Amino acid sequence: MFRNFRMISSVVFGRGSFNQLDDILSAKRKDAFMVFLVDDVFKGKALSGRVPAKEGDLTIFVNVDDEPKTKYVDSLVAQVKGHASGLPDGVIGIGGGSTLDLAKAVSLMLTNPGSAADYQGWDLIKIPAVYHVGIPTLSGTGAEVSRTTVLTGPTKKLGINSDHTVFDQVVLDPELIAGVPKDQWFYTGMDCYIHCVESLQGTFLNAFSQAYGEKALELCRQVYLEDWPDSDDRLMMASYFGGMSIAYSQVGVCHAMSYGLAFVLGVHHGIGNSIVFDYLDAFYPEGVAEFRAMLEKIKIELPRNITKDLTEEQLDTMTNVAFGLAPLWENALGKDWQTVMPKERIKELYRRM
Ligand code: NAD
Ligand code: ZN
Repeated sequence: MFRNFRMISSVVFGRGSFNQLDDILSAKRKDAFMVFLVDDVFKGKALSGRVPAKEGDLTIFVNVDDEPKTKYVDSLVAQVKGHASGLPDGVIGIGGGSTLDLAKAVSLMLTNPGSAADYQGWDLIKIPAVYHVGIPTLSGTGAEVSRTTVLTGPTKKLGINSDHTVFDQVVLDPELIAGVPKDQWFYTGMDCYIHCVESLQGTFLNAFSQAYGEKALELCRQVYLEDWPDSDDRLMMASYFGGMSIAYSQVGVCHAMSYGLAFVLGVHHGIGNSIVFDYLDAFYPEGVAEFRAMLEKIKIELPRNITKDLTEEQLDTMTNVAFGLAPLWENALGKDWQTVMPKERIKELYRRM
């Protein structure tokens, strides 16, 4: 069976396109209200003053110091339900991958009963979401195009994967990613770069993924190894294409191991991927060499020795989380992945990080 892949219905791209948001939303306003979920890094900043909220709309500044949790989604849904009776006309997320994921999850959980934790998995969502819009202010995760919202629940870190998760509208305005601090800009961009390396070297590769992956990789090289005046535009499109590439393939060793770091140490996605990738010469020799050239060009110092104080038990948990992600290993190493990558080898790599 081939996956029948749902895509975003509408996309606007261009510098200043954020100014069109009011028009875009006007066409979707019925008699209810809009909910704006805005990354709290923009509180008191110029961007929050440009959010086209009308009387009766609800603007919530969301905090993403921790990556999104199901409990946080549930509390945001309760806040929206408490704002007025009936459903909102739309949910608009403005921020990085975490905020985009929160907006997706809230729009789903406004129409589906229970807790977000009940829907972590594949295609468990049955009722279409409220109209939802994604506006990235940080590029690299591909969350703007993907059919998942990655959440940490009481027992697992797993996305709500469904056709209904996909945004109805995306606004890609490269001006919005201009002020990102250098380290964050690098780590989130490396999420895209690593997606591409893992997808292009994976056994699941096909022409669909390759077409998007190669273009995204080329754009990442331009952004992190060359100097282009419109590098924000290029990074935004790299993220979009990287996300499209993954849709029809899978990530690999780095993502599997980064999930383990996230689960035990709470390491964020982009930086976690970067920490892990530097130890994966054996799997992605060319990708890792180029990644190091990017570290040097951008002058990034990776954190080291982050696992040195872990107990054996914590290392085992970390290893089990990574080992459990079978599709990622299979994509990277083929059907016999367990012989190439026994748990002891994963643990040994973690010890070195
Ligand atoms: P993020 O959204 O977690 O944000 C990182 C930091 O950057 C935060 O402190 C945020 O406030 C700040 N920030 C955002 N925009 C900024 C701006 N314009 N200027 C200054 N600061 C800004 O970072 P991310 O790397 O974009 O997203 C990571 C999240 O994305 C993780 O939770 C991960 O699980 C998720 N993710 C989702 C998918 C998906 O397909 N849904 C894919 C990969 C990763
Ligand atoms: Zn990723």
